[in-house]
Amino acid sequence: MSRRVESVSRDERINDVLCRVISEIRATNRLGRITVVTPTLQASYYLRRSLARTGLFNVDFRRLEDVAELLAGNSVEGARLTDLEASEFVYSISTESSHGTALGGDRYSPQLQTALHSTFRDLENLTQHQLDSLGSAGSFQAELVSRFDEYRNRTKQFSSGRRVAAEAVEILLRQGGDDISRRLLGRVVLIEVAPVAPELTTLFDALAELVDTVNVSVVNENSGSTQSHEQVAMFAVNTVPNEVKEITRQIVGLARDGVRFPRIAVLFEDEAYADRISESLMQSGIPVSGPDRSALRATPVGRFVIGLLNVFANDFDRNEVTSWFSSSPVIDPVSGHPIPGARWDAISRAAGVTRSVGDSWRPRLERYARSIVSRAKSAERLGERGESEIESAESESSYTLQLLNFISSLHSQRNKAESASWTTHVGWIRSLMSRYLDVENVGETRPFERMMNVLDRLENLDSTGLKNPGFDHFVDVLRDQLNRKSAGLRSLGQGVYVGPTWTAAGCPFDYVFVTGMVEGKFPSLHRSDPLLPDHLKRLIDPDEKVLPTRVRISTDSQQVFESIKASARELRLLWPQTLPGESREFGPARWFLNEVRRVAGNPSLKASELTTSNLRHLSIVTSDHADPEQSANAAEYDQSRIVEWIRSGAVKQELTSDVRSTIVDDAVKYTEARDGEDWTEFDGKISVKDTPSLSGSATAFETYAACPYRYFLSRRLRVEETKSPEDEISLDALEFGTLIHQVLEDFFEWRNKEDVLPPTDKQETWLQNAVAREIEALKEEVPGRSDGAWTVDQSRAWLILRQWVRREKNVANLGEMNQVFAEFGFGYGDEPPVEVVTDQGRKVRFRGQVDRVDQSQDGSKVTIYDYKSGGSSSYTGLDKDPVKNGTKIQLPLYSRAVRRAFPDAEIQAAYWFFRESGSNELKPRPEAYDETKADQALTKAIDVVAGGIEKGVFPANPGKSGWVGGRSSFGSCGFCEFQRVCPQDKQDQWNRKKNSSDVLNDYLALVEPDEDEVDD
Ligand code: SF4
Repeated sequence: MSRRVESVSRDERINDVLCRVISEIRATNRLGRITVVTPTLQASYYLRRSLARTGLFNVDFRRLEDVAELLAGNSVEGARLTDLEASEFVYSISTESSHGTALGGDRYSPQLQTALHSTFRDLENLTQHQLDSLGSAGSFQAELVSRFDEYRNRTKQFSSGRRVAAEAVEILLRQGGDDISRRLLGRVVLIEVAPVAPELTTLFDALAELVDTVNVSVVNENSGSTQSHEQVAMFAVNTVPNEVKEITRQIVGLARDGVRFPRIAVLFEDEAYADRISESLMQSGIPVSGPDRSALRATPVGRFVIGLLNVFANDFDRNEVTSWFSSSPVIDPVSGHPIPGARWDAISRAAGVTRSVGDSWRPRLERYARSIVSRAKSAERLGERGESEIESAESESSYTLQLLNFISSLHSQRNKAESASWTTHVGWIRSLMSRYLDVENVGETRPFERMMNVLDRLENLDSTGLKNPGFDHFVDVLRDQLNRKSAGLRSLGQGVYVGPTWTAAGCPFDYVFVTGMVEGKFPSLHRSDPLLPDHLKRLIDPDEKVLPTRVRISTDSQQVFESIKASARELRLLWPQTLPGESREFGPARWFLNEVRRVAGNPSLKASELTTSNLRHLSIVTSDHADPEQSANAAEYDQSRIVEWIRSGAVKQELTSDVRSTIVDDAVKYTEARDGEDWTEFDGKISVKDTPSLSGSATAFETYAACPYRYFLSRRLRVEETKSPEDEISLDALEFGTLIHQVLEDFFEWRNKEDVLPPTDKQETWLQNAVAREIEALKEEVPGRSDGAWTVDQSRAWLILRQWVRREKNVANLGEMNQVFAEFGFGYGDEPPVEVVTDQGRKVRFRGQVDRVDQSQDGSKVTIYDYKSGGSSSYTGLDKDPVKNGTKIQLPLYSRAVRRAFPDAEIQAAYWFFRESGSNELKPRPEAYDETKADQALTKAIDVVAGGIEKGVFPANPGKSGWVGGRSSFGSCGFCEFQRVCPQDKQDQWNRKKNSSDVLNDYLALVEPDEDEVDD
């Protein structure tokens, strides 16, 4: 039999042609070896698989480079130069200045190194004559060729695929090609479905020239269509997500019709489709095969190493550290357990850590660990926290010290060797991995093995004889390796094939989906090589045999596309009309348009007419909600049913019984409950098993009265807002208020020791110094703020206190009245708490501290003050309602405590607002304070609040809308830390539900009483 060319045609697909060719060979040679030479591993695998049933005894499927290895592998000396080693040689040459200054030396950059490496790959295919021509084109090209010569010289001891292929050709020519090929390969069948790489072209041609070689080739579209009209379907889809869903649905449909997954392929040019398609298929339980396009950086072990490098590179920036904690499996080597990342994040925030171990982590964590317990004790003394808070603070302190040890230990292991061998640098990473990587939780083992291979390859760089790398270069190379997409295969034949278009050339899939067929994106655009532009390529290699220009690359892509069309039984092309992140619509790719024109028999059809012409083979897909029966997975099925249900207005019962999904059921239940008229478990109706202890602070009860839901979140669930030290520029209201209170307490003690009232200027000076002292002390306790921020707080506090002391004499009527107490405590030490017994028999004990008590000269009158550093607007109306619907109960509680010390005196009381003046400075006016009325209101409010807490009544009550803190808000919500988690329509919900249950009546009567009742 003589050598011949067999063409793939419309009626005979590639596997059919190959099957016929093999049968014909077998007719004359029943047992002789046959070698089918394919472009890729994929083509080898899927062709073999499609022919397996016909019997393939002694038929080998090999890639062209494998044939070269078979023919000449042992004849070429030297280890194979890996891409990483080649890259390092390029690096060493690009940093040198001896070849010139345009392409390296001081101009070195990683981008330049990458560009040089890419161009060197092309230059390796040139003859010496061509290189000389290039070198004489100009000084820039002379430097390029000089650097390349040096590269060739330094890598000549290595073997390469190019040298092996050249040697294979030599062997074929020298030893009589037919003999040796017959001995090693038998009959050769060449599958020509994709352009051959330049370094293998000569070998391909030599094999094609052998006697008896059969060349199986794809017929070009222009010389005869390979696809009947019935075998092509096209889809215009409005968005990429819908495109992916559509593909998944169709694959599910094919599977329902009995098509096996390995017979289906989804191909793309844009790499972003790799994950989109794979995730969508896997979500639907469909296995995926094909190239593994993942980068190590996307795996847990990759994130671990990159996160670690980022931590060291950014001087332990807190955000980098917490990002590392949260994104990768980190273990605490001391405990041997996974680190409590979320808790350590919260601690480092609270401690005010920013960056630098010496300047920030160590001092601030140490201070935080010290101060947190003492602050909790002090807060407990002020009635702001309970005893359990001290235990919790001690636990927090212990966690803080663990974190400090962890960070200090990690910091001590930073790489100190600036220049060292690759093995030393890699050893550093390995030791950190063995110490801190939670191997048990890295997930699948393959990424871990890939990581170990990367490290092995880096260590092997020591054997190249290149000089030791600096630490920064080592990190750059390691990062680059982790960012590279895997060149490996996930698997073949176990699921739907998902891969780039070029990888499927010659694969006989039954159903092929081609995605992303958008103008300018399909096929991928190739940029011109800036170091070797197209016009120079044409000058040196006019036939473009080894230096393909962009035009040639585009032609090659078309050949691949034609091969795929020819190999598929049915083709489905998809054109997404919009792309993620782009606001405009995109037209179809040229090849998509050509296919539509061909099928429609209308070569002048315009792209703009596609969606309006009602073409038989073009479907317009616009909705992301499919017919439920065609859903891609259970989630989509549920979603589709919900959409149907909403559109049809069907009752909920029908949906829940039909959909049968717990998640959907729960979601519907929640939404309907929140949107409904009834007060439910989703609106703060809590089932309480045990009656909670009702000793507490005034502020806790006030919080409940304002919004029970806020009380529930903060006091019961102990949910706290997350603050970031990087964002804070001034002390928060609580810290600032505490500062003012502390200064005034000390001020009283100082002033009380004086025989006569000191002059105002002396008092001002004392206050100014006291503020400075307190700020210095606070710096120790509240780390994380800049000096500028402290200066602002200091000035603010001092200005407020100066104003206050200048007015104090008149406001407090000093002279007739004298201050007798600062911080009058009750419920601490020997001082009994204030016990309120309500009409319903509920007993609640309170403890707290009165800020100031003044007494008249004759002892007949006592005035109680509670200092406030905030605004006074929410205290308006105390004359009318002394407890403001239960939200202001401090004065009557304090009155009860002070009354014990002054049983016969007339009691007055007021909140004293430092920042205000005139009639707003004291509220209510002390002489207008009615102790009896306030006490009755207190008892009533305590009864409602205590009863609500006992019964689990925690509705969200936003209060009336208005201006709070200079912003439009609801009365209860202005300073609430839970605004972001509370629903937007909270006021509507409250208005809908507040009258829906008798259990809410008492609370409603407290916070929204009838006007008549208030006046009474
Ligand atoms: S945001 Fe308003 S309604 Fe929501 S918990 Fe806070 S105070 Fe209550």
